[in-house]
Amino acid sequence: MITRFAPSPTGPLHLGHAYSAILAHDMARAAGGQFLLRIEDIDQTRSKPAWESQLIDDLNWLGVWWDAEPMRQSERLPAYSQALDMLWNMGLIYPCTCTRSDIAAAMSAPQEGAELSSGPDGLIYPGTCRDEMWFERTFPETHPRPQTATLRMNMALAAGRSDAFDHRIDTPTGGWHSYAGYQETGMGPSGKTGRIEFTPEDMTKGVGDIVVARRDMGTSYHLSVVLDDAAQGITHVIRGADLTEATKIHVLLQHILRLPTPSYHHHRLIRDDQGKRLAKRDDARALSKYRAEGATPSDIRRMVGLPSG
Ligand code: GLU
Repeated sequence: MITRFAPSPTGPLHLGHAYSAILAHDMARAAGGQFLLRIEDIDQTRSKPAWESQLIDDLNWLGVWWDAEPMRQSERLPAYSQALDMLWNMGLIYPCTCTRSDIAAAMSAPQEGAELSSGPDGLIYPGTCRDEMWFERTFPETHPRPQTATLRMNMALAAGRSDAFDHRIDTPTGGWHSYAGYQETGMGPSGKTGRIEFTPEDMTKGVGDIVVARRDMGTSYHLSVVLDDAAQGITHVIRGADLTEATKIHVLLQHILRLPTPSYHHHRLIRDDQGKRLAKRDDARALSKYRAEGATPSDIRRMVGLPSG
């Protein structure tokens, strides 16, 4: 078993991160497996070395250690570029010049003030740039992939690939599940099923043409996470239930890029007193704050509902 924790160094780690990291770490330890760290720093404008040192310090303080040098996404651009070439040569991706407001304008035209539909990759792209590039997509070998463009994946083509949906993702998102002896009630999207299931139609209607490369980054969260999990040999992805919908995208990309699909475990989310999910900006719940107030790692474990260890 190889598990991982993949934080972005864009802010302080909070109680929710602590829960996720401890589960992944302890699950690997209990199985005699490995636990790896990945620094998700593709967003170079928001990532800061100071946040990275802080998160490493917080994790070690919690008793979370990793078995290899951390993988750093900012050093993986050649791998991302190679995968984008592959998708381009398959005719599955196209350049997009729309801004967020172009997308909102294109979507809100029919019903004034109606809620814009969004999915795990944000607003569901209305397809404005999709067909203009048909020729280029059809003859990718004579039209090299633009290097500094936003690239989207044509979801209808990608999801329609017949081999992409021949199985369901078994994932303990529902019912009781045990992580290294800790029981937790999983909270899947439906709250009922232990499986994530999706059809090509779910992907086109509920997700749409995802961004696989941002102009300023040369990659995207979804593409990087899939390539990195494969490169690190991750067998079990343990992460919050907020990423359950994104897992569908990841499994689809794995099929297309011929990568193995790990087992996915989506754990419950740690919430604040109002029942709101903790976000990066919730500095009030930062581990560093509790540490400064004299909390011990056992206190943190108790606060997130784990045995004190
Ligand atoms: N870097 C992501 C985050 O901090 C997590 C990625 C993942 O677990 O797939 O939310």
